[in-house]
Amino acid sequence: MKEDNGGPFGAVIVRRNEVVASMGNKVVKDTDPTAHAELLAVREACKKLNTLDLSDCIMYTTCAPCPMCMGALLWSGLKKIYYASSHDVATAQGFSSKHLQDYLDGSDKTIAEVIQVEDEQRYSYLWTDFSLLKD
Ligand SMILES: [Zn+2]
Repeated sequence: MKEDNGGPFGAVIVRRNEVVASMGNKVVKDTDPTAHAELLAVREACKKLNTLDLSDCIMYTTCAPCPMCMGALLWSGLKKIYYASSHDVATAQGFSSKHLQDYLDGSDKTIAEVIQVEDEQRYSYLWTDFSLLKD
């Protein structure tokens, strides 16, 4: 955090009173807008535990997870997340995720266009080909 790798954000994942992952934000350092501490901690914990399921873990984080991170936390199965700062405090410090929330709650769809291609059936072979890989 003192190296200013992208903001004063950190996240720790604990399982059975043992720290599994402890990560800081690396957005600037890695030139990666997705390198939030929470997301990196999920990746690290899953790798260390060799699982996609963190439902028996707890996360402690410096700030309320942004929508991107919250999605990752839900995908990982985490059931309990403790955070220190609210979104309002982060926003006041120049770290706003309001545009994500506005997009997701439908109040501002001008932020990005997500467009389904025409003729969805034309691409159904992707699902068929993928299902064949499992055989
Ligand atoms: Zn985030």
